[in-house]
Amino acid sequence: MPNPCWARSLGDCAGRLSREHTVSRVVLDDEQIEFTGPVTQGQPRVIGIAALCSKILCEKHNNALSPLDDAAGVFRAAMDECVRLASVRRSLSPRKDWTLACFDVDGPLIERWFLKTLINVEQTFPTNDASWVAGAVDREPPAELVRIVYGRSAFPQDAGLHAIIYEGLNEHFRRTVQITVMVDQRDDTICAGAFTFQGLRLVLTLRPIAPGQPFTVDGVTPANAGPGRTILRPNKFWFRVHGAKSQVIRFNWGALQHTREPLSTDIR
Ligand SMILES: [Zn+2]
Repeated sequence: MPNPCWARSLGDCAGRLSREHTVSRVVLDDEQIEFTGPVTQGQPRVIGIAALCSKILCEKHNNALSPLDDAAGVFRAAMDECVRLASVRRSLSPRKDWTLACFDVDGPLIERWFLKTLINVEQTFPTNDASWVAGAVDREPPAELVRIVYGRSAFPQDAGLHAIIYEGLNEHFRRTVQITVMVDQRDDTICAGAFTFQGLRLVLTLRPIAPGQPFTVDGVTPANAGPGRTILRPNKFWFRVHGAKSQVIRFNWGALQHTREPLSTDIR
């Protein structure tokens, strides 16, 4: 039987296959997750947590990803606290100068977490008639993508984690994770994952898209991706309450290509 660790292309598997949560336990709240995509004709498919645990990585490659899970936990906690504090402050009289609450998130670790989650989901619940590489019959993720997950390679220019700016951002915060596997219909390859992470809409693209453009693949915009304008690796996410800055999540991208344009939401 072939080694089913999806990171086996790294060539250094060790230990037995271990149980990996398809989506890290740390970001799951209601013990379920919604998937949408071609496989479900655009309707959310709710998956219980028991189905999210799968033996798809060897022990060594599973353990090596725990810093990514930790970073996702920090991001999730920051989002929760920002939403909680906004809810408290919106019930108070408007002020011009809230005591600013700041949260720091490691951008590259988060970006790699989204990629490993996309791969986990696709390995566990394969999208019908789609593959990572055009024409490929096996479902193994390409070596280059695996190298990116493990920090041994970088995303192509203009690919990676994008945030989506759209109207009504502040109306959609809820504690859940939604994932849409996006397939480029020209060649049936998996080209992106659209995520709703605690209400924030993000798209992880595996190939470049033009900066600032509405995100579509062959004219298809997934329900949780748009419509909206994308920005690659935003540096900050501001929460305003009654128009005044109240909380900020700062994404540290280090030397990675990123956008010095913040996301912003105004909670009234
Ligand atoms: Zn392995």
